[in-house]
Amino acid sequence: MAKEQKIFHIDKKVLAEIKKSLEARRDKIKVELDKFTKEDKHEHEKHKAIFPEFGDKNDENAIEIATFTDNISIGKSLEYILRDIEDALKRIEKGIYGICKYCHQPIPQERLKIRPVSSACIKCKKKIKGES
Ligand SMILES: [Zn+2]
Repeated sequence: MAKEQKIFHIDKKVLAEIKKSLEARRDKIKVELDKFTKEDKHEHEKHKAIFPEFGDKNDENAIEIATFTDNISIGKSLEYILRDIEDALKRIEKGIYGICKYCHQPIPQERLKIRPVSSACIKCKKKIKGES
């Protein structure tokens, strides 16, 4: 059964497109995450950076550590993006997508098309950043 559509200010077609592109991005990022990290079964949905094995020589160990450090930072930023995307998809699911989380006003459709993970309107975003 279809859920009641509560998002009035976004065209249904546009919303469907946004959802599709978010899902596509999420899948891509998950594939990327798998290259640099492995999921930790003990900590739910936590990704741990993969420690590479190049060899036992000193320089090889140095490369391993450097790669590991890279994997950590890549993994972290990918996880961050993934969380944003999943949050946006959850908001679509709940019918609260495109509503500013600060002032509860609708976020313009044009902004959402450009930046589908937006959870705040430009006015509030600027206020938070301290811009005026
Ligand atoms: Zn706002």
